[in-house]
Amino acid sequence: MIITMKKNAPKQEIDALMGRLSDRGLSVHSSIGENYNVFGLVGDTSVIDPKQIEANPYVESVVRVAAPYKKANRLFHPEDSVITVGNYRIGGNEPLVVIGGPCSIEGLEPTVKIAEAVKEAGGCMLRGGAYKPRTSPYAFQGMGTEGILAMCEARKQTGLPIVSELMSADKLDEFVEHVDMIQIGARNMQNFDLLKAVGKVDKPVLLKRGLANTIEEWIMAAEYIMSEGNDKVIFCERGIRTFEKYTRNTLDLSVIPIIKEKTHLPIIIDPSHATGDWKLVESMSLAAIAAGADGLIIEVHENPECAWSDGAQTLKPKKFAELIAKGRSIARVIGRDIA
Ligand code: PEP
Ligand code: MN
Repeated sequence: MIITMKKNAPKQEIDALMGRLSDRGLSVHSSIGENYNVFGLVGDTSVIDPKQIEANPYVESVVRVAAPYKKANRLFHPEDSVITVGNYRIGGNEPLVVIGGPCSIEGLEPTVKIAEAVKEAGGCMLRGGAYKPRTSPYAFQGMGTEGILAMCEARKQTGLPIVSELMSADKLDEFVEHVDMIQIGARNMQNFDLLKAVGKVDKPVLLKRGLANTIEEWIMAAEYIMSEGNDKVIFCERGIRTFEKYTRNTLDLSVIPIIKEKTHLPIIIDPSHATGDWKLVESMSLAAIAAGADGLIIEVHENPECAWSDGAQTLKPKKFAELIAKGRSIARVIGRDIA
């Protein structure tokens, strides 16, 4: 971190600020110039809030040269993290995981049926929402525990690991007991208490990007989870809100190489929520594979017109199977495969 102070900064102001910084374990290299005094801080600057330093009227600017995240940072962990979910390994050069299933869990029988169809199509995990973050409080809110238990039965019958969204820490025990990967939804990406709660358990976390969050905010959300001890974090890009109306969100595929450069964690893409339109799901999935994604999470339903939520962006099993077959060819071109 580099602090530039104005030339007229009184010596006692400079000394007081530098004293506070060295009390926090940082050493300071100073360079006194004609017009400005420049101070370079050496040490762990993640504990420093640049905005607090800028509150000092004698401070001209504060510039971070190191990223504010440590545990997620590729710099301190150069090799790719590979995260195990059930029998699958996600990340590195491992085969891509393709997760499929309905937006909302709709009962025991349909869940077992769709799990069988996802497996038959070549999918390797089952997704499904039992606790649903709906924009309207009058919309269907999810089946709750009954939905989680329906997914458990589907896992028992098909062997597919299950992924579901946790909305509140008071259901954490239920998720730790039953779910193979905990999804943190876009709307909860900055629910810091929830992030800390999942950081305390030994369970992979699928961390969706917030509706309007920067990549750095997203990585900091991962850092919250990791700082509590759980380093099994997988990023999931699901589109961000822009001015564009032809798609539900705007899929930002540039995050794949950026996340891989800045962090050592895997990243998967959700083309369903990113586009909101089943007709766009296949092309965006193939593009995501080509761009180096470690997997896909896709909404699949036997009869999307009758799905309890998100039918317009949902694929039928046959389309899902075709997507996986095409995706495998793309994956092989870039030296990978699909699990
Ligand atoms: C979902 O996966 O069903 C969901 C609600 O996703 P998001 O949090 O990305 O909107
Ligand atoms: Mn959905």
